[in-house]
Amino acid sequence: MPTGVNRTYVKSVDVGKFPQVRRSFQVTRCNQCTDAPCVAACPTEAMYKRPDGIVDFDKSICIGCKACMAACPYDAIFINPEDHSAEKCNFCAHRLDVGLEPACVSVCPTEAILVGDLNDPTSKVAQLVQRKPVAVRRPEKETGPGVFYLGAHQATLDPLAAKRPDGGLYAWATQGSDHDPQLVRAGHPGHTTSSAAALVSYDIPHHAPWGWRVSAYTWTKSLAAGMFFVPIVLALVGLLGWKDDVTRWVAPLAALFWLGVTGVLLIWDLKHPFRFYLIFSKHHWRSWLVRGSFVIGGYGGIATLYLLAALFDVHWAEVTTGSVGIPLALGTACYTAFLFAQAKARDLWQSPLLPAHLAVQATLAGAAGILPFAVAWSDHTGERAVEIVLAVAAAAHVALVWGECTLPHVTAHAHLATESMLRGRFARFFWPGVIAVVVAIAAPWIGVVAVPFALLGLAAHEHAYVQAGQSVPLA
Ligand code: SF4
Repeated sequence: MPTGVNRTYVKSVDVGKFPQVRRSFQVTRCNQCTDAPCVAACPTEAMYKRPDGIVDFDKSICIGCKACMAACPYDAIFINPEDHSAEKCNFCAHRLDVGLEPACVSVCPTEAILVGDLNDPTSKVAQLVQRKPVAVRRPEKETGPGVFYLGAHQATLDPLAAKRPDGGLYAWATQGSDHDPQLVRAGHPGHTTSSAAALVSYDIPHHAPWGWRVSAYTWTKSLAAGMFFVPIVLALVGLLGWKDDVTRWVAPLAALFWLGVTGVLLIWDLKHPFRFYLIFSKHHWRSWLVRGSFVIGGYGGIATLYLLAALFDVHWAEVTTGSVGIPLALGTACYTAFLFAQAKARDLWQSPLLPAHLAVQATLAGAAGILPFAVAWSDHTGERAVEIVLAVAAAAHVALVWGECTLPHVTAHAHLATESMLRGRFARFFWPGVIAVVVAIAAPWIGVVAVPFALLGLAAHEHAYVQAGQSVPLA
C-alpha cells in the first residue's frame, strides 16, 4: 500500500487509570458485510459481492465518487492516492482463489487471525463463532458483519467509547494536520459514555469523503430545480403569466444553467472524472447516484423542450412540458435525501424529513433566484407572489432546521453531528446561515434585499449540514 492509506491496521486504546491500566487492541478492516451498504451505494458495481460472500472491488470501473466511503459504517474504504480508485481489505481474495491464506493470516505468529467459511460448520472459524462469546463492530447498523472479535474490549470496538486524546497526540503518532478541514479524528470528542476510562492511543487518519463541492452541489441543484418549478407553479395557478419573461425564459434558462453548474461540480468531485459516463453505461440501479443522474438527465431534457416550446411560441407545449417538469424538478431536488440515506454511516442524514426539507430548500432557492427577474419584468401580482413564496419557504426552512436540531436524536452519532453544527467546528457556517434565512422571511417588506440573505444563508446551511454529517468518527 502507498504510505498514508491502510487496508487493515491495529487500533489501540488505553483502558483504566494508572496504575490499573491495560492497552486493548483491535485489528480493524472491512467486515465483508452480508448486507453491504457500500455495494448498494456504488453506481457502477465497482464494489461488488462475490459468490463466496467476500466484498471485492473492480478498480477499472471505479469512478471515484466516494459513495461507498460515505456508506460504510466502519470507515473501511479509502481512495488509493496512486490510482485514484476506492480500495479496502478483500480478505486477499486473489490469494484465497489460489488456495493461499490472506497475507495477514500467514504472517501472524500466534494464529490470532483466522479466516474461513462460516457456512461450513466444520471450519475452525464457524466452530469458534458458535462456541465462544464473539462481538462485531457496530451491530446496530444491521449490515451483518462477517468479521468477529474474540476477547476485544468494547472501548476498541465502539468508535465513541474511548476519549479522543487532547490535541490529537496519540501514543506514537499524530493524525495529520489540525488545519485539514476534512480530517475526522478518532475517539469521542467530549466525555465518553463508556464506564471504563478509555483513551484512544493509536488510530490511523480518516478523512470525510465529501468536501465543499458536494456541499455546493446541493445548493446549485436547489437553484436548478426551484427556479423552474416556482414560476411554473405560479403560472399554473394564474399568479404569473405564461407570456411573462420570467415564466418563458428565466425558468428554463436558469434550470439549464444551474444543472450545468451542478454537473460540473459533480464531475469535478470524482476521482476519475473522465469515467463519469459509466454512471449511465454501467449503471447499478440500487444506487441513488444512478437514479438521481437519470432524474437530472430527464429534467434537463424537459427543460430543453420547454425552452423550445417557448422559442416557437407553442402554448400547449409550454403548459405540457412545464407540468411534466414540476415532478422532475422536485425529483432533482429531493433524490439527494435518498442518496444521503444510502450513506448508512452518517446518522444525521437518516432523517425522514430530509426529502421534504430539500423540497423546501429548492422552493426557497428558486423564489430567491427569480425574485430579481420578477421585480424587473413581472407585474405587481407576480412580484408579490414570488416574495410571499420566498417568505413562506424561508420560514418553513427555519422551522425544519429548528426541529432537526431540537428533537431528540436516537443515536450518539446523530447527536454529536448536530453538536458540531450547533457548537463545534461548523457553527461558524450554521448560525450565520440560520440568521440570514430568518432575515429573508421579511421578503414581502424588503423585496430583493432578501435575495442575498436567502441564497447565502442556504449555502452556509448546506455546507454545515453536509460536513457535520461526516464529522463523527466511525472506526
Ligand atoms: Fe466492508 Fe464497509 Fe462494505 Fe461492510 S460496508 S463490506 S465493512 S466496506
